[in-house]
Formats: sequence, structure tokens, C-alpha cells
Amino acid sequence: MTPTPPMSETELQHGASSDESGESGTTDARALNAMLAQMPAVERVIASEDAQPLIVEYGRTQVLAAIRATLDGWRREAQAGTLKPDANASADAAPFSIARVIDAASTTLQARAQSALRAVFNLTGTVLHTNLGRALLPDEAVRAVVQALTQPANLEFDLATGKRGDRDDLIDELICELTGAEAATVVNNNAAAVLLSLSALAARKDVIVSRGELVEIGGAFRIPDIMSRAGARLREVGTTNRTHLKDYEAAISERTALLMKVHCSNYAISGFTKTVELDELAPLARQHGLPVAVDLGSGTLADLTQWGLPAEPTVRETVEAGADLVTFSGDKLLGGPQAGLIVGRKELIAKIKKHPLKRALRVGKLTLAALEPVLRLYRAPELLRERLTTLRLLTRPAQEMHDAATRALPALQRALGDGYTANIEPMFSQIGSGALPVDLLPSSGLAIRHAGKGGSGRALLKLERALRALPRPVIGRIADDALRLDLRCVEGADEAAFIAQFAELRL
Ligand SMILES: *Cc1c(COP(=O)(O)O)cnc(C)c1O
Repeated sequence: MTPTPPMSETELQHGASSDESGESGTTDARALNAMLAQMPAVERVIASEDAQPLIVEYGRTQVLAAIRATLDGWRREAQAGTLKPDANASADAAPFSIARVIDAASTTLQARAQSALRAVFNLTGTVLHTNLGRALLPDEAVRAVVQALTQPANLEFDLATGKRGDRDDLIDELICELTGAEAATVVNNNAAAVLLSLSALAARKDVIVSRGELVEIGGAFRIPDIMSRAGARLREVGTTNRTHLKDYEAAISERTALLMKVHCSNYAISGFTKTVELDELAPLARQHGLPVAVDLGSGTLADLTQWGLPAEPTVRETVEAGADLVTFSGDKLLGGPQAGLIVGRKELIAKIKKHPLKRALRVGKLTLAALEPVLRLYRAPELLRERLTTLRLLTRPAQEMHDAATRALPALQRALGDGYTANIEPMFSQIGSGALPVDLLPSSGLAIRHAGKGGSGRALLKLERALRALPRPVIGRIADDALRLDLRCVEGADEAAFIAQFAELRL
């Protein structure tokens, strides 16, 4: 039998405060005091044998705080009359045992130790999902990042001369080789690439852009806003649906710094439309001695049609069509880490690299470490489809997803019980990140519907929440009265983990 511990100071205070009304001695107050008296003192809990493994793992400071928080919580509940002694404790065991405090403290510590950034299953059907981290990197990139994290590297050190180097030198030749550009540099993301380019080349001057290309990309990237932040004046020409070469021509003046084209990544206009293509615009710019900049957005380095994917202009084609400067993302179709790549004419890139904002927007060594091996994969186009994770996911045949759905269905239906019915259904995936928004890739997955009558909306939301509460949250999508799990982005060993996890679904 554990002897009842003496009350600590705080416990006595809590006991006293409950008697403020002067009704000391009433049954309630006496019961409360008895309950509080049964709780162990913090010092005894932290000194207990049970606490030692926690101290080894989390350190004394955190363990002490968790024990205090547990006991404080119990006292508050006791005073509010909502605290129940441990239902599992046998009659002769202390209802507020040290083991029970340790248990609760351990749960708190575990929850606090979980990373805020967690792995999830992306079953949305959108491969390059901006909210889920966009491109997944191939093993080569992962190994390079681990090495850069754990070993010193020649980030800004010229191994040939032993002098200070430039971090861009590590990668710019490779980018030029793959794009046909004269020079290149890399910054934090494509938004930074556009901001920096405009700041360096067009501050206090005019930039001519078609009204049909003044786009907003998700997450508050708007061409007119970036333009004003860069200190450039936006000179809009044409109309939303039609812009002609003569519109650009009429807007050119001595204040013009740049003609700009922006890829309409996330929307398409159809019907009575006219846009001026780069191969028409570039000669006009050259006539006036002005550069043309193209914000390509997703910017792919390979012709996607060779894998049956929809056409998207490559960076090389854009350079060849006469762009003097091209900006594009590292983590969209390119399939690398978050980065913004700027390629173009030597003198323009030199100006950009000299601008003070370049230092503020530069990439870290982890980005460079991850980007280089991804770029190198493009030297072997025949192997790219297998090796570049993004491309492999985008080109998976629907039959593979159908087979995976067939393997997952029994475990899923068992976890769902009678309340829901799951079926294997054809679906359409999207590339995502604004790339080719109207093109859909045939896929397959699990569609889950509410089995009962009515209340389907609420039942699906409940299921969606339960899937998100799994140890590795499952993110699907509700459409047409069903919760849809597109299996395109669950590959290899992940599939078994995905299926095994259904046993933990709590509806
Ligand atoms: C995605 C996109 C951007 C922004 O790129 P981030 O790498 O997300 O900063 C800018 N312009 C266009 C046209 C885009 O599609």
C-alpha cells in the first residue's frame, strides 16, 4: 500500500481557497480536500523511477513542466467537479498514482515532440500540390542534401585557386547547358526571380505587359504588385482577350526598360482571343534595342509530349525564340527543390547578380545541393521518366493506380465499417502548381460514399477529419458526394504503410 503523501504547499493553498466561503467542513469541501490530498507532490513524481526514462529522453526541465501541468490540470478539474479518479485503478491502489501522472505527462511530452511539419499521404490527385510541398525529390538529391547538412562543402570556395568563390558557379554552367542560355543564376523561388529581375533591370522605368497576362498565382503573387514592389512602372497594353503587336509597339517610349511576357499558368482563355507570341515580340524588342523577359512559371526542361503529357514550352525553346531573360520555378515541373531560376543574356544576368536584393534572395546550400543532381538527370532524357520522381508520378499508367486501389480496398472497407461504402473508380489527376490547369491525367482510386440515407455531407466531413487524424494524415478530396482518394502519388513501400494505417482509423 502506498501511504498517502503529505500535501505540498500548493495543494494546501488549493485546498484553502475552496473554503473561502467559510463553509469549511461541508461534505463537498471535505471530499475535494480528500481528493487533492491523494494527488502526489511534484517532487515525488519527478524523483520516481517511472520518471527517469522520460528525463533521459526529454530532459528534466520539460518533464518537470509536464508533470506540473498534469497536476495543475487535475486540481482545476477537481475544483470544477469534473475530475474522475482513474476508473481502472483497483480499490486499494491510489486513484491518482504516480504512474498515472507519468502516463499523462508522457502523452503531453510526446505530442510536444512531434514535428509541426509532418509527412502526409497526398491523395488529392494533384501531383505538384503547393500546399503539400510540390515536387518530391529523387534519391540522388536526398543524398546530396544529407551530405551538405553534415559535412563542410566548397559552397563559396574555389578549390582550384584556394580563394573565395561564388555559389552560383557550382551550378550555372549546368543550367546553361540544359537551357541553351548564356548565363544563369538561382534565387529562393520564382516570385523572387521575377522581383529581382524587375528591380535590377526596370526600376523607375516602364515594363510593357499584355492585359491578358496580368495574372495572380496562388499565394498572393500578382504581377502588378510585384512590379510596383520592384519599383517598376507597369505599362498595360491590349485587352484581356486580345493583344496585338501594334499595341506593344505603340507603348514603347524612351522610358521603356523591358517587354515582358507572363505564362498564364493557372487559367486559360478561349474564344475570340489573340496573344502576341514570343517569336513576334522578340524582333520588335530587338528593333528598339529592348530586352524581352518571360516569366515561364513552371518552365520545363524537357519536351513533355514525348511521355504523352500535354505540351508546355521548354526553357530552351523560349530562349531560342528570342527571350533575353527567362524566370521559372525549381519545384514545379522541373521536379527539384523550391528555387527560382533566372537564365538569359550575360550582361543582364551580371546586372541581376550585382543588385543588392540578390544577396537577400539567394539560395542556401541545401537548395543548391538538391538542385544539382536533379538538373543532372536531364542529361539522360531516356532515363528521366524513371528517375525524376515528378515525371514518374505524372506518367504512371492508370492501371497501376487501379491495381493499388484493388489491394487497398479490403482494409479500407473493414476500417470504414457499415457507415460508408468504398469503390474503385476512374479519376483524373492534375499536374498542379498552375501547370496546364485544364489538362487531366487518367487515374484510378477509391471513392467513399455515406451508406445511410441523408446527412451525406456531414458524414463525409467526419470521414475526412478522421483520415487527417491518422498518424500519417491522409489528404483526399470531396467531390460529387464522395470522398475521393486518388492513388497516383502513393508509390512503392508507401503503399503498404498506407494500407496498414487504415487499422487505426477512428470514426
Ligand atoms: C508559380 C509561378 C510563379 C511563382 O513561382 P514560385 O516558385 O511559387 O515563387 C510566378 N509566375 C508564374 C507564371 C508562375 O506560374
